[in-house]
Amino acid sequence: VIQWGQPERSVITTCAYCGVGCSFRAELKGNQLVRMVPDKNGQANHGHSCVKGRFAWGYATHPDRITKPMIRHSIDEPWQEVSWEVALNHAASEFRRIQQKYGRDAVGGITSSRCTNEETYLVQKLVRAAFGNNNVDTCARVCHSPTGYGLKQTLGESAGTQSFDSVMQADVVLVIGANPSDAHPVFASQLKRRLREGAQLIVIDPRRIDLVDAIHARAAHHLALRPGTNVAMLNALAHVIVTEGLLDEDFVAARCDSEAFGHWRHFVAQPEHAPEAMAEVCGVAADDIRAAARLYASAGNAAIYYGLGVTEHSQGSTSVMAIANLAMATGNIGREGVGVNPLRGQNNVQGSCDMGSFPHEFPGYRHVSDDVVRAEFEQAWGVSLHNEPGLRIPNMFEAALDGSFKALYCQGEDIAQSDPNTQHVTAALSAMECVVVQDIFLNETAKFAHVFLPGSSFLEKDGTFTNAERRISRVRKVMDPLGGKADWEVTVALAQALGYAMDYRHPSEIMDEIARLTPTFNSVSYAALDRHGSLQWPCNAAAPDGTVTMHIGEFVRGKGRFMITRYVPTEERVNGRFPLLLTTGRILSQYNVGAQTRRTDNVAWHEEDRLEIHPADAENRGIVDGDWVGVASRAGETVLRARVSERVAAGVVYTTFHFPESGANVITTDNSDWATNCPEYKVTAVEIIKVNQP
Ligand code: SF4
Repeated sequence: VIQWGQPERSVITTCAYCGVGCSFRAELKGNQLVRMVPDKNGQANHGHSCVKGRFAWGYATHPDRITKPMIRHSIDEPWQEVSWEVALNHAASEFRRIQQKYGRDAVGGITSSRCTNEETYLVQKLVRAAFGNNNVDTCARVCHSPTGYGLKQTLGESAGTQSFDSVMQADVVLVIGANPSDAHPVFASQLKRRLREGAQLIVIDPRRIDLVDAIHARAAHHLALRPGTNVAMLNALAHVIVTEGLLDEDFVAARCDSEAFGHWRHFVAQPEHAPEAMAEVCGVAADDIRAAARLYASAGNAAIYYGLGVTEHSQGSTSVMAIANLAMATGNIGREGVGVNPLRGQNNVQGSCDMGSFPHEFPGYRHVSDDVVRAEFEQAWGVSLHNEPGLRIPNMFEAALDGSFKALYCQGEDIAQSDPNTQHVTAALSAMECVVVQDIFLNETAKFAHVFLPGSSFLEKDGTFTNAERRISRVRKVMDPLGGKADWEVTVALAQALGYAMDYRHPSEIMDEIARLTPTFNSVSYAALDRHGSLQWPCNAAAPDGTVTMHIGEFVRGKGRFMITRYVPTEERVNGRFPLLLTTGRILSQYNVGAQTRRTDNVAWHEEDRLEIHPADAENRGIVDGDWVGVASRAGETVLRARVSERVAAGVVYTTFHFPESGANVITTDNSDWATNCPEYKVTAVEIIKVNQP
């Protein structure tokens, strides 16, 4: 047993893993971090934490950390360590050379949902002001971009409506396409507490997630739908609500656009949306759909929580709008215990979207074509800005392959591992003349890089993260950056090398600029955050203490707008060659591509990605638990170990994506959401065969 004794000092900071945003006390002896203790005053976690935030921080000082800038002239050459000055000047001169040769739009940047708000803000500012285009995107593209689109269309704001604490007032909780026990554990504990108190649960998910069994005594409704049929299911639920007189007519009349509601009501009332018609499409009994719809609509307070199992589909945005339609139709929005709640995957997905890292929006979700808004940023930044949206991440890849996009500044995202159809991504990266990677590890993307700039972990910098409940929390420096510069300082220095002056002495000054330029952040400052502990935006003159619950009395867009949500089957169909549907998710002890959780010194982390397969499908193929299996899709092939399990239905298989060697994204396809290009990670037609150990 290690006796750490009393710490000499502690620093309050925020977990850098999931979108719950737990507050921690980082305890130090000398300059040595010895413990992360969940903060009792944490407003998102109230003293709770999960195993990742509490124990998986050893990666910050792992020997794999790269602490020296490096360059090379071709990806076949070995890396050469150089000074910061040489690396930054080389990157800047390459960006300028490429712009002179191929045009202003041949370069772009990708921001990270792992970095702070301030860092994300600076990357989009660098792209818009120093590169002179809008070719900036965020890794939120591949997770919650449909949330941004769908909630803005219906409710008027691209954010969840509630605090996590709100679930304690819910009578019915509908969880769709999310697995909180593994992906948002502290919220899952709170939800389970509410279920023990008597709240009812509806789970819509192809897989029998832990929550279903966690409350077995109360008989959860589990609608184990076929992957890719969320919209059909949500329309069927709406059909029952409309045709059985379960609408909240008073709420709709007072709060929603009557014309849009009329169209929607007519649309969902059509017999083609009836549970009896949808049962076969979704693979769920009509009676179960009807029972779930009645339960949701007749609750005093009903809340919806959803995750990537909703957004990462070819109809991800449609599903988000269908969820908002359900909440409006039943009056379950605009007070405690209800609402539409996206469970954000990464620590700062909400923040990276808020900070203007989309190619069509400035900070605060304002379109780049808005002359008034653009003039404000032009005045503040001292440059003239481009008025047309730039390239999204998948468009950057396509443009690279057709020769028009040549250089990328990629901060804190491992696109070569985490984006779908790996072969397509790596071909695009190989086609670029200059790839600049800023990261804490030499990741898969760095294999295609020409400049490597050492990044800093969350322990090495000041800043803020914004969690899934719009809560802005301070990140405080616990130790000095191992590479000598925090990520925000690297972007400032790169901008200077490009000839664009950025003058900040501390991230608080970046936040002050964000607050000046972003109406929903007007009253946010480090002093206010220290005073309040944290603040939920909108936080401005109208709400100086922040906003706990959104859309009270009136929607942000005025009248709530019902949207028509026609079900269009995904192009990713099963056939004789690919008869099974693969869907994906996470396990509690690992995180995304595992770059951090695999680099802790705790052996408990070292699991592996497995392929869950139903006993009937396994038996048909002569597969037993633990066998190695080949997984082939239209995009590629990989090998995994099988876990025979009844958690998935026959015809469905499931895996996680935490280990590069398992190659989950080698088999995912290029299909994406029609509105946002969010990849359809959650539906891939595959075939499985037993193979020998690789
Ligand atoms: Fe970190 Fe999320 Fe775990 Fe909280 S629940 S400790 S934010 S990973």
